[in-house]
Amino acid sequence: MDLEDRIKVLTEGAKYDVSCSSSGSNTSAKTGYLGSAASSGICHSFTSDGRCISLLKILMSNHCIYDCLYCVNRRSNDLPRARMSPKELCELVINFYKRNYIEGFFLSSAVEGSPNQTMQKLLETVELLRTEYKFRGYIHLKAIPGADSGLLDRASMFVDRMSLNIELPSERSLKLLAPQKKKEAIVSPMKQLSETYLQTKLERPRIKKIPAGQTTQMIIGASPDSDASIMRLSQGLYDHFKLKRVYYSSYVPVNTGNSLLPMLPPDLRREHRLYEADFLLRMYGFRAEELLPEDRNLSLDLDVKSDWAVNNFANFPLEINKASYEMLLRVPGIGTRNAYRIAEARRHGKIGFDALKKMRVVLKRAKYFITVDGKFYGNTDNPERIKNILRGQELLPAPVRSVQLSFFDTMPSYISGEF
Ligand code: SF4
Repeated sequence: MDLEDRIKVLTEGAKYDVSCSSSGSNTSAKTGYLGSAASSGICHSFTSDGRCISLLKILMSNHCIYDCLYCVNRRSNDLPRARMSPKELCELVINFYKRNYIEGFFLSSAVEGSPNQTMQKLLETVELLRTEYKFRGYIHLKAIPGADSGLLDRASMFVDRMSLNIELPSERSLKLLAPQKKKEAIVSPMKQLSETYLQTKLERPRIKKIPAGQTTQMIIGASPDSDASIMRLSQGLYDHFKLKRVYYSSYVPVNTGNSLLPMLPPDLRREHRLYEADFLLRMYGFRAEELLPEDRNLSLDLDVKSDWAVNNFANFPLEINKASYEMLLRVPGIGTRNAYRIAEARRHGKIGFDALKKMRVVLKRAKYFITVDGKFYGNTDNPERIKNILRGQELLPAPVRSVQLSFFDTMPSYISGEF
């Protein structure tokens, strides 16, 4: 197979992985080196469904010894197989970078031979790219579960971001859909990477290079796991392993005819709501158990924060001139910036309704949950009616199904089904 065909096969095989945001990395240009990355994310842009583009996202190999039911690259699928050597991958990145096609590199691989053999090749690639090719752009590496911790630790020193995909939210689903993968083989390296990261950070004055921060991805809708169990798992990962991000990827039925898998992909609003809930965990101080106290899914037709506020209406309305910063964050229509502005402004005197307007608080939502100097501006205090009004303000069209982006305009026939 010539190089172009191999690139097609290997980029198509990689596109179902969404855990590739580049934000948070910062390296400046340096004489004699190539590329740089900015903390605002020079090497990514996001599509409307939240996927990250403008990185070269590719597999090193799509030959896999495993047979995960949901995966296009599974061993039993009859599809063109390809691999690239570390040197070929480095040449590709450098050439694409110089032509301004890409600003970063996302490298993953199917498990070829054994986890250690695969991880060794991945390590070789990123080490070569950083040392011989002097590439300073963004690199996100997908680590191989089950590989030796020494390989993972070493690789983490050459990349900006490292991720180990949890894939399925529960051990039960893992056993059912990916029986060759073991929870322990995924969780232990995550734990170890977080310990190395923290340890090195503590010693930062002496050690210049910090190991990569880590992320993970979960597939949504391939297994019957509820949003409540997914959010509790995410909460645990943020609490215990200090993950930078958890990504949620709607299941795409690439393999048909298996009764253990759903025939259709889930409504994309489910993925969207999980990202909203995740944001509330990371930025707004919510806990997973508060957002979903019962074992159920998030509401599809109302945003997560409004849904929580209406279900906990006994906490409202809050007096805008007295409520704590933490409680202001819980008001629909008040974001982190406005909560801060309100807290600052009221130190100099009482805030009125016009001041909130000037701050661009989304008053059409917030007015049902606040009083301003004792006055309530909502036209109802009935939670059910408020719920309906807020639903009417939703911007998301329904229902939405996900389409994975392709590096090429036309998909290979073995994926599109157009033979
Ligand atoms: S190990 Fe990875 S590439 Fe291989 S079948 Fe499972 S999900 Fe696919």
